[in-house]
Amino acid sequence: MGDSFDAIVIGTGQAGPALAVRLASAGLRVAIVERKRFGGTCVNNGCIPTKTLIASARAAYVAREAARFGVDVGGGVRVDMPRVKARKDAIVAESTANIESWLRGTTNVTVVQGHARFADRHSIAVGEHLLSAPQIFINTGGRPAVPAITGLDQVPYLTSTGIMEVDRLPEHLIVIGGSYIGLEFAQMYRRFGSQVTVVETAPRLIAREDEDVSAAVEAILEGEGIAVRTSAECLSVERRGTGVSVHASCEREPRVVAGSHLLLAVGRLPNTHDLGLDRAGVQTDAKGYIVVDDTLATSVPGIYALGDVNGRGAFTHTAFNDYEIVAANLLDGDPRRVSDRFPVYALFTDPPLARAGMTKREAKATGRPILVGRRSMARVGRARERGETQGFMEVLVDGETKRIVGAALLGIEADESIHCIIDVMSAGAPYTAIRRAVHIHPTVSELIPTLLGELSPLS
Ligand SMILES: Cc1cc2nc3c(=O)[nH]c(=O)nc-3n(C[C@H](O)[C@H](O)[C@H](O)COP(=O)(O)OP(=O)(O)OC[C@H]3O[C@@H](n4cnc5c(N)ncnc54)[C@H](O)[C@@H]3O)c2cc1C
Repeated sequence: MGDSFDAIVIGTGQAGPALAVRLASAGLRVAIVERKRFGGTCVNNGCIPTKTLIASARAAYVAREAARFGVDVGGGVRVDMPRVKARKDAIVAESTANIESWLRGTTNVTVVQGHARFADRHSIAVGEHLLSAPQIFINTGGRPAVPAITGLDQVPYLTSTGIMEVDRLPEHLIVIGGSYIGLEFAQMYRRFGSQVTVVETAPRLIAREDEDVSAAVEAILEGEGIAVRTSAECLSVERRGTGVSVHASCEREPRVVAGSHLLLAVGRLPNTHDLGLDRAGVQTDAKGYIVVDDTLATSVPGIYALGDVNGRGAFTHTAFNDYEIVAANLLDGDPRRVSDRFPVYALFTDPPLARAGMTKREAKATGRPILVGRRSMARVGRARERGETQGFMEVLVDGETKRIVGAALLGIEADESIHCIIDVMSAGAPYTAIRRAVHIHPTVSELIPTLLGELSPLS
């Protein structure tokens, strides 16, 4: 015999808690299960700790650059890594505790701690405890992938999770993986004072982006002294004293990079392998992601999958949007769909890269008449005043519908200024809605109407 509920939520990531509270406030008796720390990846090992560490790294960077602004900080800049980590830990602990107390303090929500596994399509086992409900919501997220690299079993390595415990400065950090997560750590550790090398198997960094975007990001990182090794094929690693060396061997001139620490940042895997999904009959795809329809329903009626585990997004904002879609359909009679959203995300290097919709490559492939407006950050007053003029802003418009179809903003405040573009795209309004708007001077955003007034055909 076990406990019966109206709904069970597995995982307290970015969708589960909000959904549990929403269902409970609609009068349902809800159990929410968490096996580790409340808040999941974003709160404990992802967005919050990385942005906290990036803030420390930026403080070090600004202090080193202070003389450029006529400010004398006196002497060299020393980063106290135990204090940097303690600050990060305190901010994470507060966020985790807030989520736990929110859930425990909500009427109709029962918090269960332990690893959940399906027993059948309506029940899950948490240790000896059996819980059943007609509706089950899976929000189990993902974990760092560890690639099959020759020699990896012989060397110590970090992942994006393990590096959260580091409180000493690596002398030379080698990052395998030149994509979003790897590059944030690369710049952060360079600014803390480590020597950093990024090793990427693809011919360029963040290969999903357009080539000029990759090149500009690479130039920014190299400008801070980060070594970038792209097209590094046939990787192997070996122990070298207390450190590690990374070999790229399939090349005309094989290369070796020797470092003190190794960080693997080569993507993530969904947490579906240990959920007992076969006992419920929930279908997964070849990579282990749970197959869902446009309302996030799985192959089994009454079971839904939200967040990274469904492969329909890999961000906190997509996981939270999944919660909104499920709640809208189940509780509000509002037929929201996953396909209503378009890609939006940022790479939180400094300056950040903010993206919405299509790349130029994707826009060209549609065969539509695409117009482009572009402006160098060197021609943005606010960037000049700040002395940080790297990057550019580029917006793509469909010449017939007048809708914005994509944007890449690389420059200071890009992660904020992109939102005027996102909002107009979401509203389905033409680009002229921004073109005619009055933006505040002096900001980065004030130049977005200007660049939309200078559109030309995308060659
Ligand atoms: C280093 C890093 C930086 C990132 N930065 C950003 C960023 O800046 N912006 C952004 O939007 N995204 C960022 N992300 C991605 C973001 O963290 C994830 O997209 C987001 O956390 C996904 O949320 P989720 O709800 O799907 O799952 P998760 O947050 O992964 O939560 C899943 C939860 O389920 C629990 N769980 C798993 N299996 C079970 C089980 N069987 N039983 C019980 N509990 C279980 C886990 O313990 C976990 O608490 C980053 C990720 C990383 C790794």
